[in-house]
Amino acid sequence: MFASRSGSPGLPYGMVSILKTLLVSAVLALAFVGVWLKQDVLIASSEELLGRVGNSSEESVKSQDEIPQHLVNVDVDKIDWKSKDETYWRSVLSPEQFSVCREAGTERPFSGKYCKTYSDGDYHCYGCGQKLFDGGAKFDSGTGWPSFNEASIPGSITERRDTSHGMLRTEALCSRCGAHLGHLFDDGPPPTGKRFCINSVCLYKEP
Ligand SMILES: [Zn+2]
Repeated sequence: MFASRSGSPGLPYGMVSILKTLLVSAVLALAFVGVWLKQDVLIASSEELLGRVGNSSEESVKSQDEIPQHLVNVDVDKIDWKSKDETYWRSVLSPEQFSVCREAGTERPFSGKYCKTYSDGDYHCYGCGQKLFDGGAKFDSGTGWPSFNEASIPGSITERRDTSHGMLRTEALCSRCGAHLGHLFDDGPPPTGKRFCINSVCLYKEP
């Protein structure tokens, strides 16, 4: 009779050993497949999570691009924007926007939300809503400020000689509300050769 030391009656010891080996191998294989699948699930989950993060930041950019509250439900073409006083502008602009748009200040380079934006859409004056630039006119000047090579509508930007800070420059202003936007230089790319160097805070973008 076959002796069995492992309590498996009726099976030769050699076969029990083989079966044990097979069983251990099967368990190890299953464990390996399990870990592998789990990893896949983890990778899929983290990708999904990253995707969600990406989407949410995209959404927040979209919400930032909404029309300024003071321009909603008003006929912006019928308002005498140049008659608006300091109290009005302080009530509708942030302190930084007031400093830049109404006091000819400058935002810190690379700090503006449109510094690295190159999608289609129109850029409007934050103060009065006048359309100023097409997205297609925007280029990377490397300066840290949104740069455009032409205004979208002739006459929408007033140019004024600026001798402040010991420099001779051309100031760019919104022709409708008089907001300071930035400066205009003659070192832009062809075909215009112009570079409108504009502060992000003076603009809002419509997709
Ligand atoms: Zn304006």
